[in-house]
Amino acid sequence: MNEQELQARVDAASEGRARARVDGGRVGIVLDATGLSAAQRDEAEQAVRRAAADAGASEVRVAVTAERVRRRLVAIASGKGGVGKSTLAANLAVALARGGGRVGLVDADIYGPSQPRLMAAEGVRPEARDKQLLPVPTPYGLPMLSIGQLVEPGRALAWRGPMAAGALGQLVEADWGAADTLVLDLPPGTGDVQLTMVQKYKPAGAVIVSTPQDLALIDARRAIDLFNTAGVPIIGLVENMAGYACPHCGEVSDPFGRGGAEAEAERLGVPFLGRVPLDIAIRTASDAGKPPAAADDDRIFAPVAAQLRDWLATR
Ligand code: ADP
Repeated sequence: MNEQELQARVDAASEGRARARVDGGRVGIVLDATGLSAAQRDEAEQAVRRAAADAGASEVRVAVTAERVRRRLVAIASGKGGVGKSTLAANLAVALARGGGRVGLVDADIYGPSQPRLMAAEGVRPEARDKQLLPVPTPYGLPMLSIGQLVEPGRALAWRGPMAAGALGQLVEADWGAADTLVLDLPPGTGDVQLTMVQKYKPAGAVIVSTPQDLALIDARRAIDLFNTAGVPIIGLVENMAGYACPHCGEVSDPFGRGGAEAEAERLGVPFLGRVPLDIAIRTASDAGKPPAAADDDRIFAPVAAQLRDWLATR
């Protein structure tokens, strides 16, 4: 058996992940499975076995090695519900993936898990393998898992902090394959559930979402305090539903005033990451499972994602 030909076949079968050695009639292959999911790992192993057999090997041994992918969490949080936290989490994850990031999306919002709908994965149940969940694919180039895929709607409502954190563990410790960044949609609010989750799964940083109203900003301040308590850096504040674009005449008005969130961010010493307008198109696209960030003409979420990417790059 020609070792060069064998290596060429094995290379083709594994996208260059395998090294083959001929030892008599036997072939030994070392396969680097770093970043592959369990299913991809099995597939790659079978592919190199077949390639070696095709090259004439009668006995093939495959040793699979893998470096641990270091994964970080980015929390998307808000002091209260209904401010667009889930919308922002979905669109930031999609925008990061579009920019070439290896991203996964974790929906930990036990009070109203909406990521399956936002990401067009409603009704899809994740399978488990070796007691590890397998994230489900989405049409937008990134895998996701939602607490809503594990429990009946409404069941998680009464969970206390430690229970919720335990369930979050199953999501975070799933088989995320090559994803090195997990965007985490946290439950809204600043209670014991959120603090336990944040302390246990220490995100690398947090993005706080707020609407322009004063009350929401007070809630945003509480959210910032929660992350400060847990020693998690604030990546920045995003103002959602900022300015209203009239669908009829196009005029942009600011029913809740303008610049409040930006001024507040400055006062609090946290970066201001941008404004997302209140736009009916965002709601209808979200309800239809088509995140606006997936569109080529997205000018709203991409700039926020770019700042998030820059922040992560400096860590
Ligand atoms: P949260 O996760 O904070 O509870 P959601 O992301 O679920 O909030 O948003 C609440 C509702 O507001 C959803 O119907 C969503 O489509 C809508 N929404 C969020 N952001 C915007 C926006 N910028 N423009 C229009 N509708 C929005």
